Amino acid sequence: MLVTFSYKAPQSREQLLDMIATGESDSKLLAGGTDLLVNIRNGVYRPKMVVDLKKIPGVDAITWDKKTGLKIGPAVTINEILTDANIRQHYPLLCSCARDLASFQIRNRATVVGNIVNASPCSDMAPALLCLDATVLIESKQGKREVPIAEFFTGVKRTALKPNEMVTSLHIPADKAGVRGVYRKLKRIQGHDLGIVGVAVANVGKGARIGVSSSAPTPVVTPLLPLSLSLPEVIEAVNVIIHPISDVRCSKEYRTFMVGEYTKRLWKEVIS
Ligand SMILES: Cc1cc2nc3c(=O)[nH]c(=O)nc-3n(C[C@H](O)[C@H](O)[C@H](O)COP(=O)(O)OP(=O)(O)OC[C@H]3O[C@@H](n4cnc5c(N)ncnc54)[C@H](O)[C@@H]3O)c2cc1C
Repeated sequence: MLVTFSYKAPQSREQLLDMIATGESDSKLLAGGTDLLVNIRNGVYRPKMVVDLKKIPGVDAITWDKKTGLKIGPAVTINEILTDANIRQHYPLLCSCARDLASFQIRNRATVVGNIVNASPCSDMAPALLCLDATVLIESKQGKREVPIAEFFTGVKRTALKPNEMVTSLHIPADKAGVRGVYRKLKRIQGHDLGIVGVAVANVGKGARIGVSSSAPTPVVTPLLPLSLSLPEVIEAVNVIIHPISDVRCSKEYRTFMVGEYTKRLWKEVIS
């Protein structure tokens, strides 16, 4: 079906915030478009105006400082995460997740911020961001606010973001630099596919955190777990946070089993 909408590409953040200020759902922000355009084509969204954020200076910046941590701008793509020297050195878990997101071509367009605003339960970037205690920096004409990533996801494809707000960056604290962690994603095929389950295990020093995708209405994360836990205790802690369903990809029993299995394998790899 042919859909018509106006396209705007503001040159500054102020202009963009003016354009979406009324908060009416007939405008949508465009980053890489890998979710937005699919949703427009499928009739999920019918925006009258699409506002491209990529012409705003600095939106593609990745900044790292050993005191303040990492900031990821709203136009930073998944492939840019994979090639950034500071991220590779200090936040390897982000790369572990990014490597498993879609295909090279999609990763060239898809942004990290778009991935979390889309808020799919299958988001591949969310488990790392949850384990690393990321904060979502948000701005509107009314001002700025910060939301911890664990509070940002509010339901299937739902977030704490209001229609008149823009995510201006993601922040990952400096004390999470050097965290050892690995993400593993189970798919139906060897090529790119959405996950049956995705599990990230991170050793954050004082304990471990486990982030899980595709196993609850939102991506989820455990509280800090003592490193001394036995494997059955670790699996029990993960089972508390997941609420898997049966769908076209697999049954909830298989999901539960594989979350446990991946947790066990990654715990041995990262913690033991
Ligand atoms: C073939 C294919 C395979 C895929 N495979 C995977 C996969 O394996 N794993 C996975 O996790 N995802 C996958 N995806 C989903 C998608 O690529 C990601 O979610 C992507 O990261 C979204 O980023 P984007 O820049 O394309 O966002 P867009 O499509 O531009 O935007 C997504 C949503 O976020 C909003 N938005 C974007 N930026 C901002 C901002 N700064 N502030 C406020 N709102 C904003 C948009 O209005 C829109 O609602 C796949 C998609 C396709 C088409």
